[in-house]
Parts: sequence; structure tokens; C-alpha cells
Amino acid sequence: MKIAICPGSFDPMTLGHLDIVERALGFFDKVIILVMSNSSKNSAFTVEERMELIRKCVDDPKVEVDTYDGLLVDYAKERDATAIVKGLRAVSDFDYEFQQALINKSLYPKIETVFLPARGDNMFLSSSMVKEICRLGGDISPYVPKQITKDIYLRCKGDS
Ligand code: ADP
Repeated sequence: MKIAICPGSFDPMTLGHLDIVERALGFFDKVIILVMSNSSKNSAFTVEERMELIRKCVDDPKVEVDTYDGLLVDYAKERDATAIVKGLRAVSDFDYEFQQALINKSLYPKIETVFLPARGDNMFLSSSMVKEICRLGGDISPYVPKQITKDIYLRCKGDS
């Protein structure tokens, strides 16, 4: 069974994340959406809340939602995953992602990083952008799964 991991902060999940997961399902038997809890970012949602939001959006037995606060490659070893799947939005993502891919390969040679180009209409989309639009009273519905639009409004609207 070919297992892939889609790691990230998912604070919160956007249609950009969802697109990458759905495309990864086209060539892996199982996709684990891994909410990394060791991020230094200031989060709007707790790890448990982020996992719950993802579960509301994805209802597929081939998708698992999990969290981890250690090294991604250690998790990959534990779960016998063969690939890390990442979305690339723009050249600006590339440097950092390439560095991560090389480090992960050096730490665990069996792992491959697979980059999928973001869809054109998701190129500019990030969780931070969604939170900012929401905070300023804009319409986030074109950017996030409809199942969680309300949760995001409730948390982020009017936040500073
Ligand atoms: P963000 O940078 O928005 O905080 P995450 O850390 O949650 O995103 O990202 C997790 C993964 O999802 C990364 O591989 C990232 O490149 C990818 N990703 C994020 N937003 C998009 C998007 N709009 N289109 C494609 N991939 C995306």
C-alpha cells in the first residue's frame, strides 16, 4: 500500500489544501493529512480544532487526519509512508520547499517529496490570506470548503 503524507499547519484548511489532497489520492492508496503542531506561527485554531475542521471537509476512507510534533521523517518511518506531497504556489515557495525536501531525503533516503503545482486559481491562496480577508469583513466563501466557512467566520471575524 502506497502511503503519502500531506503535512502543514492547516490553520485553517483552504480549497488549495483540499485540491492537493484530492490530487494525491489519484496516485496513492492512502493520504495522511498531518497537522504539524511544532510550527512557530501564531495559530487561530488549536491543533485539535484544525483536525476537526479538516474532518468536516474530507469524508473519504482513504484519508486519515493526524498530528505530530516531531520530525516529519520520523513520522514517515513510523507509518511506512513513501512520499511527502506538497503544493507549490509560486517561485517564492520553491526555495524553502526544495531545502526541506533535500533535508528530509538526507535524513531518510527512502522518502520522496512530490511537488504538485497549485491550480491557477489557488496560486495566491493561503490560510493567512483567508484569515486576513475574514478579519477585514470580506467574503471567504470562494477560498474555503463550505463545511467550515462559518467556523472560520466565528473565529476570525473582527480578530486583531
Ligand atoms: P500555509 O502556507 O497556507 O500556512 P500550510 O503550511 O498549511 O499552508 O501548507 C501545507 C501544504 O499545503 C504546503 O505544501 C503548501 O504548499 C500547500 N498549500 C497551501 N496553500 C496552497 C494552495 N493555495 N495551493 C496549493 N497548495 C497549497
